[in-house]
Amino acid sequence: MAAFTGKSVLVLGGSRGIGAAIVKRFAADGARVTFTYAGSREAAVQLAAETETTAVMTDSADRDAVIARVRDSGRLDVLVINAGIGLFGDALELDPDAVDRLIRINVHAPYHASVEAARHMKEGGRIIVIGSVNGDRMPFAGGAAYALSKSALQGMARGLARDFGPRGITINVVQPGPIDTDANPADGPMKDLMHSFMALKRHGQPSEVAAMVAWLAGPEAGFVTGAMHTIDGAFGA
Ligand code: NDP
Repeated sequence: MAAFTGKSVLVLGGSRGIGAAIVKRFAADGARVTFTYAGSREAAVQLAAETETTAVMTDSADRDAVIARVRDSGRLDVLVINAGIGLFGDALELDPDAVDRLIRINVHAPYHASVEAARHMKEGGRIIVIGSVNGDRMPFAGGAAYALSKSALQGMARGLARDFGPRGITINVVQPGPIDTDANPADGPMKDLMHSFMALKRHGQPSEVAAMVAWLAGPEAGFVTGAMHTIDGAFGA
């Protein structure tokens, strides 16, 4: 029997990159997977067909839509909150509306989705949020908004772990370093700068992050909660 046979998994932001790898991993491990997308309908429909999963359009910038998606997901064993955006540039120049949108997607949605999930999960439920090593370390200028959004997830997980512990639900943050996706291609212009901070001088693969998520969602991680799990080639070390 596959590791997640009979389990119901919702991935917020699953159409591309790390989220798509997480969808593939849980599907391969036998779970019933639903994932959300916002802009990439074609990629979402194709991934759903390939993996026999369900794609639904839900914009993580819309708090009420996110809450409704979690509420209407029925019985949920695992919630993975991956949807996230970057915004880099001179803090004195960035559009304040763009900063606020980032905070809605990267912080407000994870908080409200986690709380709503906890209302419906049974004992053994797992919530996993994709943060970033930039929550611990922001070694270049122009990343303050992104860094603040990812460090906010650390406080959220520490606090919600205490709220959810009595219900037998765990919540953890996975903190990737540079991972080869559309948002951060392994051959992109930032490659050499990023690798200069790392012990392992390569981008990670989305499947490597998905493997950590799968472990946190599985039975061996039952005593793990309120914690940050960094997978970054020592970017943050
Ligand atoms: P991509 O840009 O490659 O993919 C982002 C995914 O999130 C897409 O599936 C996208 O869906 C979804 N998404 C974005 N905005 C929304 C929204 N408003 N509503 C619903 N879904 C949304 O990014 P990555 O795969 O690289 O990143 C995934 C997560 O990992 C993010 O939280 C990111 O911050 C984090 N991360 C990434 C790192 C990296 O180096 N790649 C490093 C550290 C952390 P759609 O296209 O359909 O809108």
